[in-house]
Amino acid sequence: MKIYGKKRAIARLNAFRDSGRFPHALLFCGADGIGKHVLADYAAMMYMCENRGQAPCMQCRGCRRVEEHTHFDVVYPIPGIEETHKKHTDQSMVGLLREFITGCSVKPNDGDVRVIVFEKLDKLSVQMQNTLLKFIEEPLDFNRYIFTAESRTPILQTVISRVTAVDVDPADEREFTEALAEKGIPANRAPELFGMFAGNIGAALQYEQNGEDLLYLTCALKACDALSARNELDCLKAFLSLKTKDDVFAALGILSDIFAQAAACKTGAGASGAYRQQTGRVAARFSLLAITRMYDEANRLYGMSFTNPNLKLFGAECCGSLFTAAEKV
Ligand SMILES: [Zn+2]
Repeated sequence: MKIYGKKRAIARLNAFRDSGRFPHALLFCGADGIGKHVLADYAAMMYMCENRGQAPCMQCRGCRRVEEHTHFDVVYPIPGIEETHKKHTDQSMVGLLREFITGCSVKPNDGDVRVIVFEKLDKLSVQMQNTLLKFIEEPLDFNRYIFTAESRTPILQTVISRVTAVDVDPADEREFTEALAEKGIPANRAPELFGMFAGNIGAALQYEQNGEDLLYLTCALKACDALSARNELDCLKAFLSLKTKDDVFAALGILSDIFAQAAACKTGAGASGAYRQQTGRVAARFSLLAITRMYDEANRLYGMSFTNPNLKLFGAECCGSLFTAAEKV
């Protein structure tokens, strides 16, 4: 398993291992394509490795089974949550979740622990998150949790407080170029793609190989840069490029995360996380007060995007409101 970037996330995991206090619930945050699945596998190996001191050794039976996704005690409860959601009502999804939880109360098959990998935690409804909360509040000795989410914004604070959140950094330009070269993309394409996707290897590959643009991601990054450059037209264009309500959600979620990180930067933390370039620019450009207003505004708009039916009008409102929040004296 080759891992590009993610050095800080891996250093954190290794530090947990070395301290002998590995968290019982981890949450990896970052946009699609950033490498959350790779890290989820890496963390699952740490729980399952037979060579504890050097976990993950990536050689032992435990590690190999995790990598092949054939480990009996690494379970993935809700594959394709968005698809499943369309087929089931919220009530029946809660029922499915409860059923799964009950199944996890028996001891693991093979070893001492079971790892439950919950992807897209941010896509679960409030009711489902509350169901899950009871599960992680009083964990059974043998159960460990690995969650992934694109954004923290939709996750209940009560859930966040029970997990150890680890932000997934994008690759730096050298690693990015190397990873793309391995997939046959020439080095002269790398600089443009690096700029477009802020070092997100998966998003760049998807765009370059399948022609699929992660619209919400490019919208959030462009809107953020346009705010920092005071270019309202570019910001508007970014929002108008979105085609679905889910894209609007996702873009606002990312913006909210960027503003939260930028506010942390203002109070002394270094620019970090999946969008550190944008975070750094926002922190350099705006006062803490303006950043806080933009954060509140992004969250308010996020709440509204559940109900607003007209994408274009709403896109224009997002742009206008964020600029007002940025510039109000
Ligand atoms: Zn191992």
